[in-house]
Amino acid sequence: MTHKTYTVLPDIHAGMLTPDNLENLAALARSYRIPRMKITSAQRIAVLGLAPDDLQALQAELGITSSPPHTRNRVHYVQACPGSTWCKHGVGDALTVGRRLEQLELAGPLPAKVKVGVSGCRMCCCESWVRDVGLAAEKKGWRLSFGGNGAGRPRIGDLVAQGLSDDEAVTLVKKTLNYYIQEARCKTRSARFMERVGIDTLKKALLG
Ligand code: SF4
Repeated sequence: MTHKTYTVLPDIHAGMLTPDNLENLAALARSYRIPRMKITSAQRIAVLGLAPDDLQALQAELGITSSPPHTRNRVHYVQACPGSTWCKHGVGDALTVGRRLEQLELAGPLPAKVKVGVSGCRMCCCESWVRDVGLAAEKKGWRLSFGGNGAGRPRIGDLVAQGLSDDEAVTLVKKTLNYYIQEARCKTRSARFMERVGIDTLKKALLG
């Protein structure tokens, strides 16, 4: 058995699972003799150590396609915290807003990977400031930042707007990403794009 193949299970939204989901996952793991599963930093579950034939069979069974989400007019992944639904500190419904962002249909394929962090309060458990798109709920509404990155050249995202309702936040994220699609060179992450363009230009284009 190889230990160098893995696949990430689709349709685990913001890491939310029911007991039934967990039982089904355990049954799947047993039927494929999967040695380990891992909770990833993107709040999904990776199935590790599959033999190549089993990997293909499992992916086919789960309907996993080889093209990554950001080439299909969608963001790469959305992390969302328990928010006001489950957390006593939550002032915004991070799970619902996160799910809506996951479903956004954009104007075209994104120039590069886009990670989204949606936090239900200012404690920012989903590290919104260092995500390409960051939303954090405050008492007056959502705060949107863009151009954050937590990798080799970390960057704090630029503040785009504050005091947004759920609908306004989702609409402004879509507008921001469509501007990025239109203006950024291929493979330019949002952090590098914002270093070139600057927050004033972005705000002028988005907010007038
Ligand atoms: S960001 Fe706030 S609402 Fe979300 S899990 Fe953390 S403390 Fe709770």
